[in-house]
Parts: sequence; structure tokens; C-alpha cells
Amino acid sequence: MCGIVGAFSPSRATLAEDIYLGLYALQHRGQEAAGIAWTNEDGEIVCRKGPGLVHAALDQAEMSRVTCRSAVGHVRYATAGGSAACNIQPLTANTLARGSFAVAHNGNLPDAPAQRRVLERSGALFQSSSDTELILHLISHQPERPFPEALMQALGQVKGAYSLVFLHDDKLIAARDPWGFRPLALGRRGDITYVASESCAFDLLGAQMIRDLEPGEIVVIDESGCRSYMLPYASERKYHCAFEYVYFARPDSVIDGVSVYEARKNMGRALARSCMGTLCGSSALTSPLVTGLPDSGTIAALGFSEESGIPYESAIVRNRYSGRTFIEPTQRVRELGVLKKLNPMRQLIQGRDLIVIDDSIVRGTTSLKVARLLREHCGAKGVHMCVSSPPVAFPCFYGIDTPSRKELIAAQLHGDALRERLGVDSLFYLSREELVAAVGMEERHLCTACFDGKYMESPPACGCSRF
Ligand code: SF4
Repeated sequence: MCGIVGAFSPSRATLAEDIYLGLYALQHRGQEAAGIAWTNEDGEIVCRKGPGLVHAALDQAEMSRVTCRSAVGHVRYATAGGSAACNIQPLTANTLARGSFAVAHNGNLPDAPAQRRVLERSGALFQSSSDTELILHLISHQPERPFPEALMQALGQVKGAYSLVFLHDDKLIAARDPWGFRPLALGRRGDITYVASESCAFDLLGAQMIRDLEPGEIVVIDESGCRSYMLPYASERKYHCAFEYVYFARPDSVIDGVSVYEARKNMGRALARSCMGTLCGSSALTSPLVTGLPDSGTIAALGFSEESGIPYESAIVRNRYSGRTFIEPTQRVRELGVLKKLNPMRQLIQGRDLIVIDDSIVRGTTSLKVARLLREHCGAKGVHMCVSSPPVAFPCFYGIDTPSRKELIAAQLHGDALRERLGVDSLFYLSREELVAAVGMEERHLCTACFDGKYMESPPACGCSRF
């Protein structure tokens, strides 16, 4: 998962600063690196990028001085290509036939390694190990075709998840894959047109969201307006990522017409209804309390509380600044474990049955530590883990860095064995059907492959190490 932003203005404007702000709003989509590219007065592409959060990777003062007509930006969360500096985006390229390009990509192309080997055998030189560079090579291999026809041809040769923003010839170009895996939306403020991964970026920019890009749509934005093209390989079935609604996206975003906040609240409500007969209806619970694992479990917890009538408290507080704070942790810091990040309040928890809402369980390590903390440090009488998504039992090949099946706890353990491993008194998951209903999208247009293993097509042979 990464975040991308693009902007075009018919007259020169401080677009690099706009992109900086847009990336700041999308920081949750990637914290490893950030970059911005723009087209200067001579038509050359200038790029600034570096490791870390937006404020560390980029010089805000410099961005505020840049005026240009087109710019793109990227916040990186490493999947394909790893975290090497050469993979920080936007990637740029200068070609004799086509001039300069910059590209920023959110998604993952599972068949990129195989295609790359073919191109390398015919002499192509790659500068990064990122799958995004493949798209630049595929475009530059068609010098006789006009842009965006060359882009359409290039995208027709890749399968997987891509939401893209390009700079080329002082134009802004955006594209979304035919399956609609990752979000991408158009916005406007005055005469400036924006493209961003999530609508929350438009809010910070004071822009209005116009619409989502359609799956398979390419838009070219320049001084003559915004032209839309459709890739000639539209997919009947869409694969909008269900995990965007469960965890990744910001709750104040609206993606493909669905409010992330409402979807999460619906997940909590549905979870409460499915627990009603057993957990919520149990008279054995002592002074029960609902809480969410911050931040992504909080909204589902509110929905759970509303539906069940069990009171909600923010009983677990998250340190907002916990990230990679301890680069080489000492033994003492290591022993602090999950407490560095999450601090449960004993005065709210002691002697009570705690219903903890988490958005998902991947490896299970955090859930195990939280359950222990609530019981041993805070004196909870019972810990009941309710998960607002189905068990994550399969890896993702479309832009999310999930571990192999061996490391996914729900792929290895089920039922009571899983509950016991997590050290909780009860364990409930949302079913796939309940998740689909909570999002409110047609079932056939939602990807739920990490829950049910039903991928768009067979997982690529080159990705087998993840299984
Ligand atoms: S496999 Fe899971 S995380 Fe990946 S795109 Fe599908 S729903 Fe999203």
C-alpha cells in the first residue's frame, strides 16, 4: 500500500506545496519514504525524494517556493522491490524518443519479475528493483505510438494492481487498473485538478472531490481540460480491496462511493449482532465494557457498542508518536513490548469483562500481548476478542505486504486452538458475508482473497514462497 497525489494547473501555481500537503494527508498509506516530482519552466522533470515521513524526506520550505503546472508525489510502503533508496518514488526516466517521465504507483504487479526477465534478456537496463519501472520500460518500447496509446498498450501487458500518476510533456496522467484494486479519485479547487489515493487529501487541500476514477480509466489533464480514455480490456468483475475499508484507508475518506467510517461502524454492528446470542447475551459477564484497539478498531467498537447496548470506553490509549522510535532497543526497552505503543487504563478495566474490538489479526503477536497486558497488568476478569473482519488466512499479491501462510496465525490454527494461542476467553470474527454487507458493495466487485483465497487468478508461480 502506498499513497499517490497529482496536480495540474493551467497557470503556474505552488503545486509542489499542494502535493506535499496531499502526501501529508496520506501519510498513513506509507511511512518508509516520500517524493515529489514537477515539471520546471524548461519542461524538465525535477524530483526530490528521501527516506522517512513526509516532513523528514522533503523540504517543505523548498516545496513552497516551487511554481509549476504539473506535479506528482508518492508516500512509500515497501512491497515489491524492498526499501532500497533506488525504489523511492516518483521514478523518473529520460528517453530519446519520448522525453521525460515521472511516475508514482500504488499497487503491485505479481507478474512483473517474469516480464522483467524477458526485457532484460533483450538488453533492457533496470535502475531499480521496483515493479513500477517495468511500466516505464513497456512505454518506452513503443516509440512509434503516440501517448497515451503507448500507455494503454503498456498497461495491457501487465496484470495486477495499479493506481498510477504520471508527469509527461507537462501533462498530468492518471490510470487505474481494470479491476479497481486500489483507490484513485479526482478533485478540483478553482482551476487546479487533483488526483489522489483518498478523498481525505482533497479535504486538506480545500478541494472538492469530483469522482472516483473508473476501473480501467486513464485521464489526461492539460491546458485543454481533462480527457478520459478506457483501457480496451475492461473486466466484468471488479476487485476493490476489502481491506481498504477494514484497515488501510482513513475513516474520513470515501472510496468508490462508500464512506470508510460508515463501513467500519457497520462491521462493528454486524459483529455485535453475530455475538448477541453467545457473548453479548451472556449473564456471566461482569460489568462488560467495549473498547477498540486504537486506532483502526475504534470505529467498529463504537458500532458494536451501539448495537449491543454495552458501554464503550477508550480504555486503551495509543502513543501517537510510536513508530520506529527505538532503532536499537536496549533489553529494558525490548521488555516494555506492546506497552510502548498501547497503554490500557487499569481504573476502567479492573474486575470487568473487556470486549476488545480489533480490525484484523495477522500474525497474532499483538493480540496475544494485549490480552496478557489486560489480564495481568490491569486485572481484567475476562478478555473477549472480537475481530471486525474474517480470519486473514492468505497472503495478498496486490500491494499489501502480508506474510506467508506459515506466519498467518489463522492459516495455522482454528477454533479453540486459535483462541487458546491468543490467550483470550472468547474469540469472534466477522464472516465474509457480513463484511461484504457492511461495505455495501456487490459481492462480485470486492476482493476478499486474503480471507478466502479466491484471487483474481491463480497466484503467480514466482510468488509461491509466500504460501
Ligand atoms: S488480497 Fe486482501 S489485502 Fe489484497 S487486495 Fe484482496 S482484499 Fe485487499
